[in-house]
Amino acid sequence: MLKDKDRIFTNLYGHRDKSLKGAMARGSWDNTKALVDKGRDWIVQEMKDSGLRGRGGAGFPTGLKWSFMPKDDRPHYLVVNADESEPGTCKDREIMRHDPHHLIEGCLLAGVGMGAHTAYIYIRGEFMREREALQAAIDECYEAGLLGKNNKCGWDMDVIVHHGAGAYICGEETALLESLEGKKGQPRLKPPFPANMGLYGLPTTVNNVESIAVAPTILRRGASWFSSFGRPNNVGTKVFMVSGHVNRPCVVEESLGITFRELIEKHCGGIRGGWSNLLAVIPGGASCPVVKGEDMMDVQMDFDGLREVKSSFGTGGAIVMDKSTDIIKAIARLAEFFKHESCGQCTPCREGTGWMWRVMERMVEGRAQKREIDMLFEVTKQVEGHTICALGDAAAWPIQGLIRNFRPEIEKRIDQYTANATSDGVVMEAAE
Ligand code: SF4
Repeated sequence: MLKDKDRIFTNLYGHRDKSLKGAMARGSWDNTKALVDKGRDWIVQEMKDSGLRGRGGAGFPTGLKWSFMPKDDRPHYLVVNADESEPGTCKDREIMRHDPHHLIEGCLLAGVGMGAHTAYIYIRGEFMREREALQAAIDECYEAGLLGKNNKCGWDMDVIVHHGAGAYICGEETALLESLEGKKGQPRLKPPFPANMGLYGLPTTVNNVESIAVAPTILRRGASWFSSFGRPNNVGTKVFMVSGHVNRPCVVEESLGITFRELIEKHCGGIRGGWSNLLAVIPGGASCPVVKGEDMMDVQMDFDGLREVKSSFGTGGAIVMDKSTDIIKAIARLAEFFKHESCGQCTPCREGTGWMWRVMERMVEGRAQKREIDMLFEVTKQVEGHTICALGDAAAWPIQGLIRNFRPEIEKRIDQYTANATSDGVVMEAAE
């Protein structure tokens, strides 16, 4: 279990003073100038050496991403993706409302690393209180001379909070940039990548809140300290979220690679009704394939561990479902979510998400034919990888996980419906 002295976020639950004074007492903004003075190349190299992989879902190495920013005289931008909207994911909100100075100091240091003097934090539309807390913290920093021109840290930096309007798709980095420019929030085709042509056509790096918020502590305590947690390629500490049928749902910082069992036992008081009552887990937020409970128990909670069980680590937000769950209905609900959030730009996603959801709704009742299970799987494969952005994949994967792991459940439901319909004298119509 991660020791308290190794926790980066020391006020995740809001029990302590979140003001600048309180944050400084816990180590934030401690001689930031000394880190700035080490220069852009040192910061990028240290971040690379730390092994930090982006905490927003994709897991791309953060230091490498920063190094893609060109070294020229054009304005450069850091954009922080705070549009946290995926069901099961709720870590960035805790950072922003209770421990915002990690993020703000991180913006300044990341700005040095990528040659940016302006950071935009694009915050989810529904996060009203979080925006207020973040803005109050930013205002404190300006007043204390830590941000703005000629600040005490020796690197001119403006941090601007931009409030979104509540669209999940604006968490996709290019849609976020479009929205920030005042346009309709729809993803762009890549390339060009934002590092070359991002916000207003200028070099831009988009990073998740947690990725930026951990940077000051990594730079202060050293890359080797951070990389000492976890296992190769999966290092560092991570803010995990556990929701659903555990005794104490929580958000907690732990070492990457902790087993699912340990995470649940140590921090969540166990599974509701005991481990034998565990049905399934969606391990990294709603877009990750669902995994059978028995396959999850000893999985290491990191990028490679979740890949071994044909799922993905995502944001580290585990949704736990016990045996009282109607798993088909749960996945159908997620299908509805993705259908609702599709921006409609590309045909496989626009049409496919609606089609998949309608079939899933029938399968919840059992009002389907068994051959449609394969047909549904085939459609998810036609959506996956054939769209502009990853929302198509996100809509396909939970359904694929359901069919892979719970096919007998779906078949049983169809058999029950058929038996009931036959006994009632109803003739089953061929599913459309
Ligand atoms: Fe829009 Fe879906 Fe295409 Fe993404 S995959 S661009 S959300 S239609």
